[in-house]
Amino acid sequence: MTEMKKAEPPQDISQYKGVMVYLDSFNNSLTRAALEMVGAGRKMADKTNEKLYCAVIGGSTKAMAQEAGVHGCDEVYGFDSKDLAMYRSKPFSDILAGLVNEKKPNILIVPGSKNGRDLAARVAVKVRSGLTADCMDLDVEPDTRILLARRPDYGDSTMSEIRCEKHRPQMATSRPGTFATPEPDPKRKFQVEVREIKLEANQLKENIVSFNQKNEEDITGSKVIVSGGLGMGKPEGLELIRKLADLLGGSVGVSRPIADLGWISREHQVGQTGETVRPNLYIAAGISGQPQHIVGMMGSKVVVSINKDPEAEMNKNADYVIIGDLYEVIPKLIESIEKVTGANPSPA
Ligand SMILES: Cc1cc2nc3c(=O)[nH]c(=O)nc-3n(C[C@H](O)[C@H](O)[C@H](O)COP(=O)(O)OP(=O)(O)OC[C@H]3O[C@@H](n4cnc5c(N)ncnc54)[C@H](O)[C@@H]3O)c2cc1C
Repeated sequence: MTEMKKAEPPQDISQYKGVMVYLDSFNNSLTRAALEMVGAGRKMADKTNEKLYCAVIGGSTKAMAQEAGVHGCDEVYGFDSKDLAMYRSKPFSDILAGLVNEKKPNILIVPGSKNGRDLAARVAVKVRSGLTADCMDLDVEPDTRILLARRPDYGDSTMSEIRCEKHRPQMATSRPGTFATPEPDPKRKFQVEVREIKLEANQLKENIVSFNQKNEEDITGSKVIVSGGLGMGKPEGLELIRKLADLLGGSVGVSRPIADLGWISREHQVGQTGETVRPNLYIAAGISGQPQHIVGMMGSKVVVSINKDPEAEMNKNADYVIIGDLYEVIPKLIESIEKVTGANPSPA
């Protein structure tokens, strides 16, 4: 007969207070996503009138801890070891889970980078809590201190609000680009505690043989993005998109079908299953504006849609709409910009 396991009794959740942010880093520098999460964490900590804790793990964390402090953390815990200079699943998750058990934060949020996703899932298991991944919005109910983790669901037809009532900490990840980076305040008061870590042999089972950095451009930090969709009709359309992007000092984005077709690498895809971006200017050329695309660029400051179809959904999400064929519109835009900036002036 199958043995029935008793359900675990609910934790004493009243012990759990404050918000904790795990700070992603690379080469002893905080990632932009880490600072974005500090901004999201600060807002929630202010709403519940609690502390914002941050944790950073690496080869040398003091400067990163200071940076997190001026951006909004109250208490920053650094964990230093030469063996932690690069991300390793086992020791990083052991350390973060240990800090969670020590500080007992009510909420733990982690940047949804590749390493952050790996880490958050492992920590959730170690601390016996749940995890809501890829949230587009994070908020907290001030009275109940319940995390409101909002994310698209059912192929993006709905936005779900996930609540974790019985287990602590309430955990979530959000993709880089989801939140704005908070402004630093050099006068902020905060505490930093850096701990030297001695790792056990069984925590160092992963052997890092070499590290190859991808040369792909990272569009998540771009101030200007020119994106092309299926309306381009052919891979050569990307040359036109690239020309306009270069002229504006920006990056090339695409809708998912373009990455699926292999016209450009997946790193350029904007949307639910691609990157989340929040540039100052987002130009969408030949993109219909399906919800799965919109969720990835809705934080953009100014949106321009170039589309043949006046009824395209993208137009409704845009500040400026140009109705027309992108192969006629973009060359005219390029010509006008070149005239204004003096770049490659066309012969009179
Ligand atoms: C689970 C799931 C996840 C997904 N994730 C993503 C994602 O991350 N990112 C994403 O983008 N999509 C994603 N999708 C796909 C998404 O649903 C759409 O299919 C996709 O965004 C459509 O791409 P598109 O706008 O380029 O193509 P289309 O919808 O075909 O639109 C093409 C547009 O180009 C216009 N057009 C045609 N010719 C021209 C021309 N010459 N000049 C100007 N305009 C022209 C048309 O009027 C039309 O509006 C996902 C789908 C699912 C189910």
